[in-house]
Amino acid sequence: MPPLRRHAAINLFGVFFVHPDVRVTKRLINHERIHTAQMRELAYIPFYLIYLIEWALRLLLKGNAYRSIGFEREAYVHESDFDYLEHRKHYAWLKYMNKNKKRKKNKRNRKKDD
Ligand SMILES: [Zn+2]
Repeated sequence: MPPLRRHAAINLFGVFFVHPDVRVTKRLINHERIHTAQMRELAYIPFYLIYLIEWALRLLLKGNAYRSIGFEREAYVHESDFDYLEHRKHYAWLKYMNKNKKRKKNKRNRKKDD
């Protein structure tokens, strides 16, 4: 899920919309499936509220607000682990909410956000 101004792909209540110029990869689908799991465990609306509040607060901090959002950090860290959702613990995103926690490096740096 991206910030609105540069949406290449967006996941609305588990339905995934992609800009026609975006190549849909297995990794992108997995990223969005992780967001769908996050949404489900929060009964959807609270996911969007928490997402927007965290994003707005992170705008006040150093670094990329979007990439620092706990939901996004979990999705980026595990998007290449295609079995992740089979062993993911509920509310796993909570441990990614702490900005100071050491973050696993994402091997592939993507230009496009998804
Ligand atoms: Zn995302």
